[in-house]
Amino acid sequence: MTTERDVLDKLATVRDPDLGRDIVSLEYVKNIRICAPIVSCEIELANPASEAVDRIRDEAKKALLGLSDIDRADVEMKWAVSSSPDGAPQSLPGGQTAPASAKPPGVKNLIAVASGKGGVGKSTVAANLALALTQAGARVGLCDADVYGPSQGTMFGVSDRPEADEQQRLIPLEAHGVKLMSMGFLTTKETPVIWRGPMATRLVQQFMSGVLWGELDYLLIDLPPGTGDVQLTLTQSVPLTGAIIVTTPQDVARTIAEKGLRMFTPVHVPVLGIIENMSYFACSHCDERTYIFSKGGGETISSELGIPFLGGIAIDPEVTLAGDAGTPIVSRKPDSAAAKSFREIASKVAAAVARANFESGSSDQPKEILEDNGKLKIVWTDGSDTVLPFDFLRNHCPCAVCVDEWTGDRKQLVLLLPSNFRAVKIDPVGNYAIQISWSDGHNTGIYSFRSIKEMAKELDA
Ligand code: ADP
Repeated sequence: MTTERDVLDKLATVRDPDLGRDIVSLEYVKNIRICAPIVSCEIELANPASEAVDRIRDEAKKALLGLSDIDRADVEMKWAVSSSPDGAPQSLPGGQTAPASAKPPGVKNLIAVASGKGGVGKSTVAANLALALTQAGARVGLCDADVYGPSQGTMFGVSDRPEADEQQRLIPLEAHGVKLMSMGFLTTKETPVIWRGPMATRLVQQFMSGVLWGELDYLLIDLPPGTGDVQLTLTQSVPLTGAIIVTTPQDVARTIAEKGLRMFTPVHVPVLGIIENMSYFACSHCDERTYIFSKGGGETISSELGIPFLGGIAIDPEVTLAGDAGTPIVSRKPDSAAAKSFREIASKVAAAVARANFESGSSDQPKEILEDNGKLKIVWTDGSDTVLPFDFLRNHCPCAVCVDEWTGDRKQLVLLLPSNFRAVKIDPVGNYAIQISWSDGHNTGIYSFRSIKEMAKELDA
């Protein structure tokens, strides 16, 4: 007779490619009911915009029908966005400590949208991602902190001054299903630009604690362009789930993306990925793509820097027209190529958030990370330690180049590495992982603390 254990064993063969893990260890499987020959269950994904829903459902059904006394499997697919933790006090470069920070009550995830310079389409991307996530069913807010050129009011076609409740908390405006708050709703054109930098930090803090955001799955923050002090202070003052960097091919992209990375790494904010805007021109008749600048720049940078590439968006006059008309393209022309790109990117962003939240849900935090004679040694805060040889870690690299997202199979044969094989650089990723650059040039593997402990168990076994 089929038991719940049998059902879970079967479902443990099904993976969520967004998180690269099986749906049982991700705790996605809920409400199992067995009434042979029928079995039913719910699978609750953490990504509302997942592109793998149908495939996961089909694989789960197929796995369940492999049970000897089952001939019907009802699988209901659901989703619930996970929440990132509030910020613990952070130690910063130079021995300073940033105080603990909290997300606004009811807000599950804060995502910063950043760019190295103005005019790359950061605000356009933020607006369209907010809409794409809303269309996927998520509850979304957008906080326009771009002090130098607040444009979300125009993009969403709203300009009212927000009202406040009795406790002077601001009520966000709402347009196209997205809750909005912008510097532009509160400042006037006469506000001197010189004041706007210092104001930005204070206002963002006020936007976090003094705005009635309500229940939100994602609150996107449209940061001012650049990677200077203002942006750094902003990112420190709120517990970000992660940051997205928007770039264009004609940027001196590498330096700019690197600057972005340099800004987020010391403050333990994971960079969820790079988006390349105005990547190419798509012919409206035949869809042929012309790469006006260089092709594949965004992908090259992201692989060189080991940051996920979230996708490229065509340069399309309709994007501008839609923004100027107060209805971003994802809503105005949902069938356009640009809208499709935004939806695909939104799905990847939601996947990256789900992954960061799952991995940071582990309580394992390192006190010290050392290189110890060809091995990585991590001393955890509880005093215990984990030691793993570098060649073992390299051969267990979890990145998409090394592992098939769907099957979890390794794409490469085991590498025979020279005796002087070593880690050239070990960088923190958020507060849940490290990224290792190896002496063979490979550097795309992000090893979460959770997975490092799992690998140590595997090595011991
Ligand atoms: P930023 O926030 O980086 O300063 P904006 O989002 O304000 O940039 O975009 C700058 C200009 O470029 C706007 O006029 C916008 O409509 C336009 N734009 C942005 N992305 C695209 C695109 N993919 N195709 C065509 N125009 C775009």
